[in-house]
Amino acid sequence: MSLVEVKGVTKRFGGLTAVSDVDLTVMAGEVHCLIGPNGAGKSTLFKLIVGLFPPTTGSILFDSVDVTAERPFARVQRGMSIKMQAPSVFKELPVQQNIQIALQDRVTGAERAIEEQRLLELLGLAADAKKMAGALSHGQQQWLEIGMALALRPQLLLLDEPTAGMSPEETFKTGELIKSFNAEGMTVLVVEHDMAFVRQIAQRVTVLHLGKIFARGSLDQILQDEQVAEIYLGK
Ligand code: ADP
Ligand code: MG
Repeated sequence: MSLVEVKGVTKRFGGLTAVSDVDLTVMAGEVHCLIGPNGAGKSTLFKLIVGLFPPTTGSILFDSVDVTAERPFARVQRGMSIKMQAPSVFKELPVQQNIQIALQDRVTGAERAIEEQRLLELLGLAADAKKMAGALSHGQQQWLEIGMALALRPQLLLLDEPTAGMSPEETFKTGELIKSFNAEGMTVLVVEHDMAFVRQIAQRVTVLHLGKIFARGSLDQILQDEQVAEIYLGK
């Protein structure tokens, strides 16, 4: 069963076509990685899925409902949550309060404190709960942001370059974290550059190049494709 269907989506910014006639299906329960060189249109496609801007043409279905005309908050209420590429934790607030903001009033009373603690422990940030978010390492800030996206208990989690700036150990830990949400039934769509990380987490991979779908399949199928090697290695 498909959770997201991107159908014939094009996004133009003035004369530039950032996303060009893209069809993409994300199956319910999978970890799907979107890869491709810089400027391929990956972040734009993510923003189209969550509704941060409308497509020039095409449509987006979530859980079989056409959400193309819906505002981002409406899509979040349906079960989407995104961690964008640019870091956006509240650096001048404690870690704990960042999580509280993300929880909003979704949970209240005693349950709220339990949920907050559960997330902090899941992310390995419990000992740093009272630190200012800006004082965390870059990797920890990325985890905090993933935690803020998770606070919504989404059906679909979109992560745009979640391991950027992380050490190999932190990257591996992030992969295990993603696999643990996925094992609980969450569908995860990830933009990623690190092929070892893609191998660790992805069930299916889509390659975007110059705004177009270039290849799709398992990571091994894709890496065997000479044209994919060409766009990555410039051969
Ligand atoms: P990727 O995430 O794959 O690196 P992006 O989706 O960020 O690529 O960008 C794809 C193309 O669209 C780039 O040429 C970028 O400059 C352009 N672009 C992205 N966002 C905007 C915007 N808001 N306005 C104008 N051009 C944009
Ligand atoms: Mg990007």
